[in-house]
Amino acid sequence: MSTRGMVIIGGGETGASAARTLREEGWQGPITLIGQENLAPYERPPLSKGALALGSEAAPAFILKEQTLEELSITWVREARAVKIDRDRHIVQLADGQEIAYDKLLLATGASPRKLTLEGSNTTSVMELRTFADAERLRSKLEAGRQLVVIGAGFIGLEVAASARERGCQVTVLEVGHRILMRGVPLGIAQAVEARHREAGVNFQLGVGIERIESASGEQRITLANGQELRCDAIIAGIGAIPETSLAAACGLDVGNGILVNDRLATSDPTIYAAGDCCAFPHGVYGGTRIRLEAWRNAQEGGAHAARNMLGADQPYEAIPWFWSDQYEQTLQVIGLPDASTLTVQRHTEDESLFFFHLDDEHRLAAASGIGAGIAKEIKLAEMLIVKRAVLDPVVLAAPGLKLKALLKELS
Ligand SMILES: Cc1cc2nc3c(=O)[nH]c(=O)nc-3n(C[C@H](O)[C@H](O)[C@H](O)COP(=O)(O)OP(=O)(O)OC[C@H]3O[C@@H](n4cnc5c(N)ncnc54)[C@H](O)[C@@H]3O)c2cc1C
Repeated sequence: MSTRGMVIIGGGETGASAARTLREEGWQGPITLIGQENLAPYERPPLSKGALALGSEAAPAFILKEQTLEELSITWVREARAVKIDRDRHIVQLADGQEIAYDKLLLATGASPRKLTLEGSNTTSVMELRTFADAERLRSKLEAGRQLVVIGAGFIGLEVAASARERGCQVTVLEVGHRILMRGVPLGIAQAVEARHREAGVNFQLGVGIERIESASGEQRITLANGQELRCDAIIAGIGAIPETSLAAACGLDVGNGILVNDRLATSDPTIYAAGDCCAFPHGVYGGTRIRLEAWRNAQEGGAHAARNMLGADQPYEAIPWFWSDQYEQTLQVIGLPDASTLTVQRHTEDESLFFFHLDDEHRLAAASGIGAGIAKEIKLAEMLIVKRAVLDPVVLAAPGLKLKALLKELS
């Protein structure tokens, strides 16, 4: 291999994990990490949680500090947007005209917030939350007594609602769907989350469309499709994210809902890989179903996995999807793909935790989700059962005294 080196576009969780792994796996050639933000790679999950909490320090939680980047001899090109990939010449072009040559390239471009396209909605009237700068702006609006409207009852919207309530804001959540957490979370968990929010004083309006937004002298007015008007001090939208595929599409790589990669995380060009929120990969454990995840662990593990394959490991990526969310004192976790299931079994444990086990047609464990204090260990055990493609008895799973550990032992 020549000394053009490894180039990574995107300095988020995925890009940082890949860069670090390349060094840890012994790559001694150049590594260039290109990021359009001005901060070294930092964690996004705290942006809707701790970064908004009262009394917390508004400092980014760095994944790779600048000093570490230096120590690892990773060239960090900040505030630089990659605008073109010349696949014939193996060159990435930046917005300022600079050209960076690669042997292998990783696209770790992540996703961007889906924009509201309503009359009156723009970046001034409606906030979004993806970057540390977004979190700082939101934080400055969360003064006690202020009225905040959250558009979208997905994870980010609900985490913001919880943080804002804890800071003493009045919070209304507007959701066009008829329930909260529509994607990837069973109804029972969504109900438990909603009940906790209502107890904290969050006002929900579900199944409502929005007509327009008007802003005048610091106050905003939202007109709902049913004619109702809401006045508030600030609006934040958490209505999903769109994978950043434009660079990949422009240079002729296969894209769909994400950059399409194979199970090695290689794109349709074998010298270019993609991982994290921006890519869609076929999952061996789920019959090769192509999935795109927006989850922290996938970003971290996918980045590391792509890095190893860029160095020649040639291993399939089969990490089981895992997601968590913290709202108030509650944690919820989802392991696996609930959507791949046809049967759901519920179990309440003595410590008030609530679990759902999601089985496929053959009663193989496809996913498990839980909410409550003691869920982490059980979800970890459920992950091991998914990896083993365990066939489980729904009656056994529902028993309150069930020990997943015992089920695992029986299988080994
Ligand atoms: C507020 C918030 C809370 C979250 N909470 C949780 C949680 O509780 N649990 C969980 O599992 N997951 C959570 N996530 C999801 C998790 O943070 C993401 O899945 C993860 O950050 C994705 O990492 P990534 O590197 O793929 O993408 P990103 O983090 O989006 O990083 C991509 C980077 O690439 C840069 N980039 C894009 N295009 C270019 C270009 N052309 N040139 C240069 N740079 C470019 C972007 O500016 C960005 O810095 C949360 C996400 C957010 C936003």
